[in-house]
Amino acid sequence: MVRAIIFATKNAGKLRELRYLCEPFGVEVLGLVDLEGAPDVVEDGATFEENALKKARAIASWSNKLTIADDSGLEIDALGKRPGVHSARFAGEHGNDGANIERVFAELQPFTRPVRGFTARFRCVLAMIDPTCGAEHVTSGTCEGEIALEPRGSNGFGYDPIFIVKEAATALHDRTMAELSADEKAAVGHRGKALRAMMTTLEAWLRS
Ligand code: IMP
Repeated sequence: MVRAIIFATKNAGKLRELRYLCEPFGVEVLGLVDLEGAPDVVEDGATFEENALKKARAIASWSNKLTIADDSGLEIDALGKRPGVHSARFAGEHGNDGANIERVFAELQPFTRPVRGFTARFRCVLAMIDPTCGAEHVTSGTCEGEIALEPRGSNGFGYDPIFIVKEAATALHDRTMAELSADEKAAVGHRGKALRAMMTTLEAWLRS
């Protein structure tokens, strides 16, 4: 039975999380850093789903192996759901987390902060492709929260230090995502939810 999949990402934070999430299922996850010569995919889709499918299709047809791709980002309601699909490059340079966070605070500056804070959510879309039969499966997950007054915490990556988790039915005591343990983020986070929604299909594909 095949127990290895490719996760089509160069983002070390996403790869660490997907490996952690897949551990209980005994699935080995190879990132693009583990593979030489993978094509670069331009993320020019208008939606998370378009980008996730584009990445998964490109890497699955290049590798001919079961591939999962993630497109994800932060939606801030006061900013019309930006940065959204542009989260990685919000401040211009791809993946500069510090500059992206500065840009969020700069863009929120003209707005009066609502009593309950600026509402926001993380959104993650996962696309999985089996290139041997061309089957595609897409799932998604969200995590509701609000923007913190200043960055807090050193776990996670990206916008985690400025995102206070406000998921219903959880008692996370107003901690930011970067103050949660890997277990806690896996339970309430957008990526964990999207992966759990994909697990039955993934296990069936791995068995076939
Ligand atoms: P992309 O999916 O490669 O376009 O990049 C998504 C970007 O969204 C990342 O570079 C982060 O800035 C942000 N992002 C996605 N998921 C998370 C998360 O779990 N925590 C913090 N930031 C995230």
